[in-house]
Amino acid sequence: MMREVDEAGEPRFFGAVEAGGTKFVCAIGDATGKIHAETRFATADPVATLSAMRAFLEERSRALGGLAAIGVGSFGPVELDRARPRYGFIGDTPKPGWSHTDIAGPLARQFSCPIGFDTDVNAAALAEHRWGAAQDARNLVYVTVGTGIGGGALVNGAAIHGLMHPEIGHIYPRRHPLDAGFAGACPFHGDCLEGLASGPAILARSGTSLEHLEAQHPQWEIEADYLGQLCAQLVLTLSPDRIVMGGGVMSQTRLLPLIRERMTHWLGGYIDRDEIRSGADRYVVAPALGTRVGVLGALALAIDAAS
Ligand code: ZN
Repeated sequence: MMREVDEAGEPRFFGAVEAGGTKFVCAIGDATGKIHAETRFATADPVATLSAMRAFLEERSRALGGLAAIGVGSFGPVELDRARPRYGFIGDTPKPGWSHTDIAGPLARQFSCPIGFDTDVNAAALAEHRWGAAQDARNLVYVTVGTGIGGGALVNGAAIHGLMHPEIGHIYPRRHPLDAGFAGACPFHGDCLEGLASGPAILARSGTSLEHLEAQHPQWEIEADYLGQLCAQLVLTLSPDRIVMGGGVMSQTRLLPLIRERMTHWLGGYIDRDEIRSGADRYVVAPALGTRVGVLGALALAIDAAS
């Protein structure tokens, strides 16, 4: 075990919270990315869930002489502007009971330490940049394709915050010819990218998930095309050095090469760079941190908040 405080007597452990729509992962970690204690529980109503989160951090931190900072990577939308009264809150969310829930405020009051707060996907981007598949990339986008589609973006290693934070999932791709009759599954937009290519969209269109569809099934081609369009648009708008693609749908590893092909198709030969021309197999990549990316992202937020 590391010493509990550093030479100056300050705590050297960090709290990390992956606040997901289906599960919370709470952990204690150190500056090297090592996790020393962890718990996880299903996301219930906000009062019970956030009480369990604070109880874990309180119990573990007492023995450690406090925490240097706490990082929270949260499902969104979230308010990231510190000048706004609802900084650290979850915004309007379809998740029952969670709209306008204050996450960061109660943590700051209880633990009297800096709080790093960001979207789950910006946190994941930070973790892949620090310890994973994008350590040599200054600018990168992390995309998750699962229950929804979302993305986080780093420029010179820092997450983009502006009006809100990048969403990425709710853009409008060009419709695939084999997908003409599908209305889309997004409750806000119908046939936005999330409405056409998230896990629920695949289920609504085909009655099952990708893993149960044979390789010749048109669903593969449709999915790869929409995500290829996304990658092409990211290249043309944010010009990242790398795109990391995670989430439940991306666990189907044969999807990634199909997406690279479609990205190249949609770029139409316009981007004259080896990273794209060579097949993009080092440009559009899988996460290196796997299912650990969420909690490690939260730890990265905490480390940055303390420094
Ligand atoms: Zn949408």
